[in-house]
Amino acid sequence: MPIERIYFWGISAVWLFYGLAGISVAVFFAGAYFHVSVWMAARRGGESGGPAGLEGVGAAGGTRAGAARGAWPTAGRRALAGLGRVVLDGLLGRRILKGDVIAGLMHGLIMWGFAGLFIGTVLSTIDHWFVHFLAGRTYQVFSLCLDIFGVMLIAGLLVALFRRYVEKVPRLENRAEDLWILIWLAAAVVTGFAVEGTRLAVELPGWESYSFGGVVFSRLFSSERWAETVYPYVWWFHALICLGLIAYFPFSKLFHSLAAPVNIYLAPRPVPARLGEDGAAAEASPGGGAPATGTAGGPRFSFRDLVEFSACTRCGRCDTVCPSASADEPFSPRTFIVQARAYTKAAHNPLSRVRWFREKLFRSLSTVPEISPAQIWFCTTCRACLEVCPVYVGAFEPIRQVRKAEIEEGSRVSPLLTDALERLYMFDNPWEPSKKKRKEWPGSLTVPDLTEGATAELCYWVGCTTSYDTRAQKPARAFVRILNEAGVGFGTLGQKEVCCGDIARRVGEQGLFEDQVEKTMGLFAKYGITDLVTSSPHCFNLIKNEYPSRAPVGPVPAGRVLTGAAPPAVAPVPAAPPAGAEPRPLFRVRHYAQLLEELLDKGALRPHVPVTATVTFHDPCYLGRYNQVYEAPRRVIRSIPGVSLVEMPHHGPDSLCCGGGGGRMWQELEGEKKLSEVRIREAAATGADIVVTACPYCLIMLEDAVKTADLDLSLRVMDLNELLAHSLGLAEDEG
Ligand code: SF4
Ligand code: SF4
Repeated sequence: MPIERIYFWGISAVWLFYGLAGISVAVFFAGAYFHVSVWMAARRGGESGGPAGLEGVGAAGGTRAGAARGAWPTAGRRALAGLGRVVLDGLLGRRILKGDVIAGLMHGLIMWGFAGLFIGTVLSTIDHWFVHFLAGRTYQVFSLCLDIFGVMLIAGLLVALFRRYVEKVPRLENRAEDLWILIWLAAAVVTGFAVEGTRLAVELPGWESYSFGGVVFSRLFSSERWAETVYPYVWWFHALICLGLIAYFPFSKLFHSLAAPVNIYLAPRPVPARLGEDGAAAEASPGGGAPATGTAGGPRFSFRDLVEFSACTRCGRCDTVCPSASADEPFSPRTFIVQARAYTKAAHNPLSRVRWFREKLFRSLSTVPEISPAQIWFCTTCRACLEVCPVYVGAFEPIRQVRKAEIEEGSRVSPLLTDALERLYMFDNPWEPSKKKRKEWPGSLTVPDLTEGATAELCYWVGCTTSYDTRAQKPARAFVRILNEAGVGFGTLGQKEVCCGDIARRVGEQGLFEDQVEKTMGLFAKYGITDLVTSSPHCFNLIKNEYPSRAPVGPVPAGRVLTGAAPPAVAPVPAAPPAGAEPRPLFRVRHYAQLLEELLDKGALRPHVPVTATVTFHDPCYLGRYNQVYEAPRRVIRSIPGVSLVEMPHHGPDSLCCGGGGGRMWQELEGEKKLSEVRIREAAATGADIVVTACPYCLIMLEDAVKTADLDLSLRVMDLNELLAHSLGLAEDEG
């Protein structure tokens, strides 16, 4: 007997198989087209959802060709980074292994088993129809590999079944589809072994040990004749299971295996080069009418949002780290993603673009799935979900799009938040109905004002909370003393400083955000600001990552010595760059913790007063997870004599949010536990005397939580500036 693959052994109606296979593959591609069509709804709706705003600021003075020349190296690097992520996270399971090794191994067995069998099927088709190469030793190895992949898949599926239905891993939600898919995949493999075994029961080729899976099944048959009789039935059963699986694939959660690599490749959200680049999707809806989310316009999701929805596997890791979900608030990022996916599938169904379907079918559909509007305000935008999601889904970005729609509608926005936004609109801050009070925070300290003719190297961007909140003002004064001690020339924008727009951005008030950006950039241009240091990680992140701060062309204006003496009327137009130049930032922005670290490294600051205390550091989300600044504040703490730094169980990228971000400072949300209390209890459990942070929101939230959580009031909450100032002999009462 020749050593080669035998095709359609004992099967007569081969044409029927190919007919069914054609239908199955056609359904697969139709399903895949459905997903891609939903994704492309964003493209059809145009990428630019907002007003032009400062359009062109980032591209000032440049030619399209110049920008294109500069873009290629960046695009190449991004592509390589994207491919690297696909290999490490998609193929090797780096993220899925993190924190749950068993889940990672299980997923690897299923994924590689499935992929191996799929590739084997493709190679068999090539061997049968085009190039016959599966013969002799090659075929024996091929046959062995297929059986190994089959066993891997079965092993992975058994682990998955155990975890879901015996161990009952809490984060896994069990829908009928989850069980159905596991059984379907297992059936495909088992019947494949059965086909092989039935044939081996009829004729043993002498090298059957290479098909060890089939050999097990061949032993079930007592006679060759019986095996020969049942073979066509087993074969057709296996064929129908596999063809059905192919057709069902894009309509099930299995589609994540195609969408996830796309999302992983795209992972980092692009920083908008211009305002209005939010990638808003078309507002298509079943029946062609207004989208049925209960809002006037409905959320306009971006291309990335729509790919993310398809990539989600409902694994629930996001729920386990989400501070809101963990505090038993009525919110879950997974539920949001699932609801948003159902909504967009209905709202952007490609069939709704065909008149007949629109008129006959969609009119009879009663509702489009709702995205529960109550949920969306709970998100603190802390980014913890993105940190743990194996396929890089972050719920907070699409949530912002739903918030935008709610803000446009206006009726379901909390009165406290509406008031804060009104104050922001009227007085350029969300706290007080006064512009004048902004300059009162220094108290008796003298702070150079760049808008009144002072000259300085550095602009201290104080921020609204630090300017208006009496508790947050103290670290600002400590920072001023520290800068003076280090001999750093700096100035502020005094009363002319405005809100950078962070709160407006987070709660989806895009128009107001763009107004604030325009005002801020106008100040930067007018006073020649190119080097900033901020109090708040929120201002730092927004200005660094979400302002249209990248000039596609041109160098940073020379030097960083600025003056308020002769402000230019308009922003300087950068000169054209050399060919191939990278986009350059128009200005540099740092968080104060980074500047303190630099000053300590240079020896400009020498902490000498011992602070004999155990200290733990609370990582602000917008400093840590958003900008990976973890080490700078810790180095500052370690530089202080006498301090013993201990870490909370959740620290660094795993840090817990204080609950103040995402506009929650201005809302009263119903929940079982306060997020800040959860955090402060964790800090107290370390035995620390002092909880240090580097964000005005965190400072206020955690200090309040010490009182409301009935903790020992000797636990102090301090800002990093305050702790360092103390060790420099510059504390408020010593200054
Ligand atoms: S968003 Fe990510 S972490 Fe959350 S359920 Fe989906 S795949 Fe899992
Ligand atoms: S950003 Fe934070 S609060 Fe929002 S869904 Fe993700 S984990 Fe939850």
